[in-house]
Amino acid sequence: MAQSIDPAIREVLLTRVRFYRDLGLAEFYRRPVAPALLAQLVAEPEAEAAAAQARLPGATQTLGAVPSPLLSAEEEAPESKQAPAPQPSIFQEDQPISPRQLIPAPPQVAAAVPVAERAAALEIIREEIGDCTRCPLHSGRNKLVFGDGSPLARLMFVGEGPGADEDAQGLPFVGRAGQLLNNMITAMGLKREEVYIANVVKCRPPGNRVPDPDEMATCSPFLFHQIDVIRPQVLVALGATAATCLLGRRQPLAGLRGRLHAFRGTQLIVTYHPAYLLRDPRQKKEAWADLQIAMRELGLKPPAKRKGQAS
Ligand code: URA
Repeated sequence: MAQSIDPAIREVLLTRVRFYRDLGLAEFYRRPVAPALLAQLVAEPEAEAAAAQARLPGATQTLGAVPSPLLSAEEEAPESKQAPAPQPSIFQEDQPISPRQLIPAPPQVAAAVPVAERAAALEIIREEIGDCTRCPLHSGRNKLVFGDGSPLARLMFVGEGPGADEDAQGLPFVGRAGQLLNNMITAMGLKREEVYIANVVKCRPPGNRVPDPDEMATCSPFLFHQIDVIRPQVLVALGATAATCLLGRRQPLAGLRGRLHAFRGTQLIVTYHPAYLLRDPRQKKEAWADLQIAMRELGLKPPAKRKGQAS
């Protein structure tokens, strides 16, 4: 006899099935499951997220602008420089994001992967992606950009999607924005090889446009899986696209920056995308304040600046 399913349980099941489908798994069999267990599966993630948010020491704290090692001497004295003319940009960071389509629920958090198995687990995800043709972005792709860095990273960055340089090299953040991201990582007292860097989508959107919601929904389960394997202590969302994808809600960046968000067992910080900072360097101070929250969580101190060292 046909049974009706509680809508909340149905949503959890659908999300899980879509995730498996994106990983290439298509055959499923149904076994009877105790209703109490299903109800618990639905209730747990919400309760866990609420409890984690309440536990965070800096959960509601915001930081003001502080001197930023990301600023060059010229940028440090803004009166000597005219504000950049507004440009049509895909990185209009503080604009509300249009509610074009509902953001699908992310897959459930996977079980922790032992440290010794993390590199292999990432390799399995890469193999699952394969020579991907799941969304239209594949047709313009030169190289798929999976991610780069240490599988043991305590700090992970998530960008939007590959640009021309990344598409050519198959590595994230290797162009001009990547240079600035490298500077940000160095300013935090880390090496690029010590962190992990990935994007919401793994193929370059044509003309560097913002990925469509469908493209994000198709690709992001692999990103969530990478995050679950690496399980960084701190995750930094670079820009509005990454923040929207990870947090699952469309909100202007200004309302998300400057504080910690409980996220999949880690702590998430939202900051400006380096490409936006290249267009408007005045925002680097704000970005540095965000990165300092990350550093505090990681117990990092910025390295002493050498005399005459450029930012
Ligand atoms: N911008 C991104 O969002 N990601 C990259 O990898 C490069 C530029």
